Amino acid sequence: MPEYKTEPFIVPSISGLLPVSERNRRVALTSYDARERKVQVPTREVVCYECGRRSHVPAAALSANCIHCHAHLNMTDVELKPGSRRLTVRTLGNVTVLADAVLSHLSIVCRNLNLEGRASGSFRCSGSLIVACNTRVEGSIEAADLVVNKGVNLILSQGACVQNATIHGRVTGRVSAKGSVHILRGGELCGDCTASNVQVEQGGAHLGNWIRPNDIG
Ligand SMILES: [Zn+2]
Repeated sequence: MPEYKTEPFIVPSISGLLPVSERNRRVALTSYDARERKVQVPTREVVCYECGRRSHVPAAALSANCIHCHAHLNMTDVELKPGSRRLTVRTLGNVTVLADAVLSHLSIVCRNLNLEGRASGSFRCSGSLIVACNTRVEGSIEAADLVVNKGVNLILSQGACVQNATIHGRVTGRVSAKGSVHILRGGELCGDCTASNVQVEQGGAHLGNWIRPNDIG
């Protein structure tokens, strides 16, 4: 058996000082001059979907954390395809339910929601909810703008709370709007409507009570 001997580690230089040129190079690499490198990253304002407060995030970010409640904020756009098993979507981006999809028990919080396929569940949109396909929504709907496309039959089991509604198709259910409800030619709303302003164009119809917010007190 050969005898094993550790070799002593010999430090080539015993001085702890770096040569001046090397020291300067390292200092330059690690120091940060705020005056020179002040880069303005473009930001955008987002509203946290958990706590509802506003914060600024880099415009190009795909996700961020709310500075108030630390919730993870997803900012990507999401497409729900036919047969999708994803039921819960939380994003500051837009969501599209693709045509031919038949999805239920969804829980979607997003900016704009496009229903090109049949979807049921609870929807909360900070932007617009565009319904382009016959569907029955069993959950609640909150949106800034509800748009029901021409020829579309929308059934609302629990009604919708919106800022404004634009109805080109047929809506069955309760609609509550802080702003106005606009029923266009060929459009029909079957159900009570709470809004300060309801406009029914010629060729449109509202079958139900119109409750002005003042009436409630
Ligand atoms: Zn938050």
